[in-house]
Amino acid sequence: CMKWARLSFGCEALDKCTQGGIVTRGITEICGVAGSGKTQLLLQLSLMSQLPLEFGGLGAGVAFICTEHAFPSKRLHELSKTFTQKYPSININYLAQVHVQQIHNSEQLLKCCAEHLPPLMASERIRLIIIDSVAAVFRTYSDFIQRARDMRKLANCLLNLGDRYNCAVICVNQVTSISKKQSEIPCLGLAWSHLGRTRLRISKVPKQIKYDDKLLTVRKLEIIYSPETPIAYAEFLITGEGIVN
Ligand code: ATP
Ligand code: MG
Repeated sequence: CMKWARLSFGCEALDKCTQGGIVTRGITEICGVAGSGKTQLLLQLSLMSQLPLEFGGLGAGVAFICTEHAFPSKRLHELSKTFTQKYPSININYLAQVHVQQIHNSEQLLKCCAEHLPPLMASERIRLIIIDSVAAVFRTYSDFIQRARDMRKLANCLLNLGDRYNCAVICVNQVTSISKKQSEIPCLGLAWSHLGRTRLRISKVPKQIKYDDKLLTVRKLEIIYSPETPIAYAEFLITGEGIVN
């Protein structure tokens, strides 16, 4: 029986609230409105993943599937320099271990996960799969039965790969609000939500903190549900050097 691992956020507050980070089991969803910081968090996790286990990483690279925006390679490059400075004893070519796939619709996404990822995972050391985002490709369906079928197909592919390589799987989702008073709820309904194991939400907090002479918006990560972690939240900042608390 394989031992489940945890991928650290590289941020103490977020690790504490999630009891050590993202677990290499099932699908972890990260949802939040546009600009809440989902992609920034994923870039940091993509670098963290490559660190050795004793530094909170998984000692392996990442398959990063973009469906919405172009992959922010400039920002990844910037963050990788921070990592090189922060962990001078570790010699990693961070950029070489981020395998980016750009896809445009659900058909390409399913094909990518069913046909492209398996040989990639077999030949490269990868222990993190990211889809940013699932909402972009599945929100456009009008046939909800077909959509449920396709989402299940995707989840099956991801879960198989996750089990086989003991890797973490993160899917980004968007949120909608029914009314101004109600908090945002994740898109894609029950058909999607029951395929995930852990659901996290990030949002901006109406509060700013001075950091390096700049006023930064405080953000929070909440655990909506997780089988082994109590409901909790933690605050964090997005700085030029990455996620900090
Ligand atoms: P979307 O749903 O549109 O993809 P998102 O949740 O992925 O949005 P991000 O792109 O992760 O949002 O976050 C964007 C925010 O991150 C910016 O509004 C900015 O506040 C912050 N940010 C990005 N780069 C930096 C940086 N170099 N320094 C400080 N903050 C940054
Ligand atoms: Mg994004």
